[in-house]
Amino acid sequence: MPDTTHYRICPLCEACCGLEIKVSDGKVSSVRGHEADVLSAGYICPKGVALKDLHEDPDRLRAPLIKRNGKFETATWEEAFAEIDRRLPALIAAHGRNATGIVVGNPSAHKIGLLTYFGKLARALGTKNVFSASTLDQMPKQLASGLMFGHWLSIALPDIARTDYLLVLGANPLASNGSMWTVPDFKGKAKAMQARGGKLVVIDPRRTETAAIADAHHFIRPGSDVFLLAAMVQTLFAENLVTLGNVTDWTVGVEQVSLAVAPFTPEVAAPRCGIPADTIRGLARTLATTPRAAVYGRIGTCTQEFGTLASWLIDVINVLTGHLDVPGGVMFAKSAAFASNTAGQSGIGKGVSTGRHHARVSKAPEVYGELPMTCLSEEIETPGTGQIKTLITVATNPVLSSPDGPRLAKALDTLDFMVSMDIYLNETTRHADVILPGVSPLEDLHYDVAFPQLSWRNHARYSPPVFERAANQPEEWQTLLKLAAIVQGKGPHVDANVLDDAQFAEDAQRLFGAHADAVIAATAQFKGPQRGLDVALRSGPYGDQFGRKPEGLNLQKVMASNATGGIDLGELQPRIPEILRTPSGKVELAPALLLQDLKRAVQYLQAPAADLVIIGRRDVRTNNSWMHNLPVLAKGPFRCTALVHPSDAARLNLENGGQAEIRNGERSVQAQVQISSDMMPGVVSLPHGWGHDQPGTQLRVAAQRPGTNLNALLDDQLRDPLSGNAVLGGVAVTMQVLSLAP
Ligand code: SF4
Repeated sequence: MPDTTHYRICPLCEACCGLEIKVSDGKVSSVRGHEADVLSAGYICPKGVALKDLHEDPDRLRAPLIKRNGKFETATWEEAFAEIDRRLPALIAAHGRNATGIVVGNPSAHKIGLLTYFGKLARALGTKNVFSASTLDQMPKQLASGLMFGHWLSIALPDIARTDYLLVLGANPLASNGSMWTVPDFKGKAKAMQARGGKLVVIDPRRTETAAIADAHHFIRPGSDVFLLAAMVQTLFAENLVTLGNVTDWTVGVEQVSLAVAPFTPEVAAPRCGIPADTIRGLARTLATTPRAAVYGRIGTCTQEFGTLASWLIDVINVLTGHLDVPGGVMFAKSAAFASNTAGQSGIGKGVSTGRHHARVSKAPEVYGELPMTCLSEEIETPGTGQIKTLITVATNPVLSSPDGPRLAKALDTLDFMVSMDIYLNETTRHADVILPGVSPLEDLHYDVAFPQLSWRNHARYSPPVFERAANQPEEWQTLLKLAAIVQGKGPHVDANVLDDAQFAEDAQRLFGAHADAVIAATAQFKGPQRGLDVALRSGPYGDQFGRKPEGLNLQKVMASNATGGIDLGELQPRIPEILRTPSGKVELAPALLLQDLKRAVQYLQAPAADLVIIGRRDVRTNNSWMHNLPVLAKGPFRCTALVHPSDAARLNLENGGQAEIRNGERSVQAQVQISSDMMPGVVSLPHGWGHDQPGTQLRVAAQRPGTNLNALLDDQLRDPLSGNAVLGGVAVTMQVLSLAP
């Protein structure tokens, strides 16, 4: 076999780096950053190299599994679909549509087939019980942005290439390369900012890798970002520092915000967040007086009880300091395809709303079509009409990634039937009756649907598959369509391609009316997600409009740019008012939902500090739990340690390398202690996604050093009431010695 070179967008995290993959004798011989890539310019992190391990992992499932008499047996695809058809439609008929739940995990965001076809399965099911990883770490940001700007993915992104001051809260982009912000080689960009005289300031309960290169770092009490941010906003008003700049004519609600933050003076907020009042004022003044400045917050600011408020206040500060929608401030990407904020009438819209339906047990409101992931266990456990009896999971492992995983594991065992689409037999899929394996990312074509909407620079890139799929392995979108057909009573033998053609014809009629036939003819060379992508590119903001703008984009052109790193669409440009889809046609600075919740926050201003609270942490060598099974990432020092400050270690008699019990009420876990002055006193940090010591999984590398499941400590009843997001940080715990260092 000849040696070949391939160019592939890395699917392992939100940074979406372009990779150069060399293949010799049918095997990956090297993975490097693609120097010509228009987004990442050759950057790669250790995870990207692990694509080889993922592709070759003997534990990765390559054939369906059916559980018989409590044991999984390998099956053909025909047998697997027949088993699902034998059991699932009858259960839906007996218990109703809402008795089936569906859960999707974040790897689906990196697979165009899963992302663009998951909705077809959800619609076929017709259930209200839709859950995703979004309510574990990002829904507050999406809700706050949706309320302010009118769409769930209209996220204001730091214009890092031109800013002179970047304030980062609860994020570690040096390890993550951005989250809800696609920014490969964050470190290089931050260093370039510092080299031109700019400043990076980090606020975090841990001196993270990002904090280590920052010009200043301030510890903050976990969960108190809302108080710090509200006090910064209060300072802006109190010191007459408010200037809206370019968005003056396009913003409403300034006065309401001014009144709402009045109780949050820096003196009141300081003891609550652990940051001196002078520092709070200084941060606000610096932002107000630096012409090019931006505030960015992520997971730490989302995974707390006031997550939506914290996410909102970050952009309130960006607006009030004149940094929204200007170069060097925070700006909006303009995606070539699939972005709702480039479609429909520009500058005005319906905005976003929540609570179109509610969770049956907790009454938590629906947000962006989903219910909180933390409601899943009780929806399975609690009898009554609409009780979840059957479950479909797609690329997700909530037993490890969601609070109170042990409760969820027990609940999953009570289901009448469970189907999982996944590449691993993991802590969640071991509970399934049928597992349908996905393809290796290297066997899949790819175009990022979501991340160009969050990217530091506009671009369009497409990756063809590196390897062919096994002859009998369906593409993932075909599997989703087959499942949709089964739940619709069409049986297991439906040809997914025929079904897709029929659905595409219907969609074309709905979207293009009299031009539908022309669109169908123009895209006839493509099938499945490729066809949808061609339509999205051609009708998008840079598109060829099906020939009316011959110089515009289409899929052929984007495909042709693969070896040269994709198509660069330039740096971010101002988009207000065009991007807005709010009912007022303005930036809505004071949504009623948020002002109301701010009154609740006032009541927590005086809450006493617990002696010890727990937070998670991000490591550059891991993202999803299955990455712990990839040898190149699993090697090296043990990472699932409990970081504690020396003063806490002394107080609690903890020794470096010893074992400790961490307890939250009835829940407890054991973890190895690592003493570190990088921690804020009174805060312990344990990374999440570990706990690979469950029986019946097939993650043999991960099982060698299973680590501790942080989420087993956390209460699934704690959530941000607006977004439904889980509270993963700032939870009070106790620690005690189990054994001293060996
Ligand atoms: S940062 Fe690493 S894991 Fe993320 S896309 Fe880039 S190479 Fe892949």
